[in-house]
Amino acid sequence: MIGILALQGAFAEHERCLDRLGYSFAEIRQKSHLDRDLDALIIPGGESTVMGKLLRDLDMEKALRDMILGGLPVFGTCAGLILLSKKVEGGAPALGTMDIRAVRNAYGRQLGSFSARGSFAGKDIPMRFIRAPYIGSAGPEVEILSEVDGRIVAASQGNQLATAFHPELTEDLTVHRHFLEKMAGLSPDRPQRIEGQSHRTSMTAGILCS
Ligand code: GLN
Repeated sequence: MIGILALQGAFAEHERCLDRLGYSFAEIRQKSHLDRDLDALIIPGGESTVMGKLLRDLDMEKALRDMILGGLPVFGTCAGLILLSKKVEGGAPALGTMDIRAVRNAYGRQLGSFSARGSFAGKDIPMRFIRAPYIGSAGPEVEILSEVDGRIVAASQGNQLATAFHPELTEDLTVHRHFLEKMAGLSPDRPQRIEGQSHRTSMTAGILCS
């Protein structure tokens, strides 16, 4: 079972990706949900300060950190990247499990939202940035997976994957496949869905950002 942290932000878009790929998932909304037999966890984009506060208020921060450090495969997008970062420029670290320094709201207000194409683990994919961070520096155990305009926008460290962009807001499933198959060693547990059969309506990207 794949957990999707569903406290705030763009979790429904990740659910749609998992649906399309044929994976079952559970929304993680409180501490007891962490007891579900999780094979992997996705931390969505949203507002990292709000999500960090909710993780603390709900007493989930330490449990989640321990699970990630214990090897649970985790994929953080945008605010999720910030929550995983050991150092945060323009904010405070939360889970701090990944040896990267996130630079928050790094592109300035005007350039906060844009689309680009870039290489991810050797494949050219569309990338959607919304009030995005980038990775300012990374420790020796971190593998750089994508750079756009000389800035690191995707990286992995062992069981952890972080992207500054939102693959769940594009139709391209490369990053989710990479995480689920290559990093978590999982395969779909039911047939893939035909396009357009999502059971959720999509949130507008606007509510993601501060
Ligand atoms: N700017 C947001 C933050 O710092 C991240 C935006 C996003 O997740 N799209 O949390």
